[in-house]
Amino acid sequence: MSAGIALRVGTATDTGRVRTVNEDTSLVEDGLFAVADGMGGHVAGEVASRVAIDSLRAHYGVEGLIEAVQIANRAVYDRATEDPALRGMGTTICAVALVERDGDAVLDVVNVGDSRVYVYRQGELVQLTEDHSLVGDLERDGRITPEEARVHPQRNVVTRSIGIEPEVEVDSFEIDPYRGDRVLLCSDGLFDMIEDTDILGVLRNQTDPEAAAERLVHLANEAGGRDNITVVLVDVVDDGGKAEDASASLAGTTVASRPVDRILADEPASAGSSEQVPSPPPVRRMTWRSTLFSLALLGVLAAAAGGTWWFARSGWFVGLDGERVSLFRGRPDGVLWFDPTVERRTNLRLDDLQPSRRATVEDKHQFTSREAAERFIRRVQSETTTTTIAGPGQTATTDAASPDDTVLPPTSAPPTTAAP
Ligand code: MN
Repeated sequence: MSAGIALRVGTATDTGRVRTVNEDTSLVEDGLFAVADGMGGHVAGEVASRVAIDSLRAHYGVEGLIEAVQIANRAVYDRATEDPALRGMGTTICAVALVERDGDAVLDVVNVGDSRVYVYRQGELVQLTEDHSLVGDLERDGRITPEEARVHPQRNVVTRSIGIEPEVEVDSFEIDPYRGDRVLLCSDGLFDMIEDTDILGVLRNQTDPEAAAERLVHLANEAGGRDNITVVLVDVVDDGGKAEDASASLAGTTVASRPVDRILADEPASAGSSEQVPSPPPVRRMTWRSTLFSLALLGVLAAAAGGTWWFARSGWFVGLDGERVSLFRGRPDGVLWFDPTVERRTNLRLDDLQPSRRATVEDKHQFTSREAAERFIRRVQSETTTTTIAGPGQTATTDAASPDDTVLPPTSAPPTTAAP
């Protein structure tokens, strides 16, 4: 166990009021907690969750938590492959482990499937894990509401689970444990039956973890108990002074980043005695996947910004700076905050130009290169000279620009930039 950290755990499970078999399996060991919800018919579902939990228990410690879940996946898969009666069985699994990392105690969280891990902190409840389910996908896409998800006819369709494929992708998260945190692992038999606000109410009011776990199962049964219900509640009762440290380091700053997932605010101050403890930071749902995503997003933004800058600065045109015909760099109307800049002013005024040239200047016609634009300027300069000698009309028929001078029509799209 990590120094200074003390956990207290409550757990409860029930078959519910409809099913005849409890296919859920839970695990409560020193520093390792898990819930698995088996699928695949009576015996098979029970076997799947049991095999997964046994394998996790056997391999965690030697292996990391993610690796242990991958081994558990293989164990269930192999068992289902060997035994025709168990073919197609699978299970969800979510697990929490207390580990020491760089001298700090942290809680590692992993998930596959649609069981959930919630974190209750400072009166807020955050769903840490993402459901790997059809309705979870629909909800994340904003196509259905959480309320619609709960009653969706296909709410039991799981999109990722243990034992179905030889390899499985495991979501992982990390929590800094603070005194007062309550980490809730549960199967869908809980949150399909009762609202998150109901869960929050129990976590707020029932301080004893065992009593809270039993209360949650009781409420799910009262609401119909359509599925097996399993709850493991892990309380951080001591964090070795971490909350105070965090509070001190946060003092005077305005950090307060909000959890990105569903937040349920507490009712105004139920101010218990423990509220004297300074506030730890809110739970942030930052995973290695979201980190990768953030980095990728930064890359895309940087490329886009670079591309925009390049696009904004890549054009050349001849226009008027005040009354003087001038060479500009950039796009005639600018791009975002990049305005065109004057590169060179000439002595020419618009009236000095051949009428046929004026439109080019007035329309801020774009050239493919500085050279092309300079060529145009030299040409109109020579024309004005010629004009004064030879008279108007003399050079008007000569087309100034060679074909390659004028590409980039005004509607040209920004170039695609380097993909990250
Ligand atoms: Mn279930």
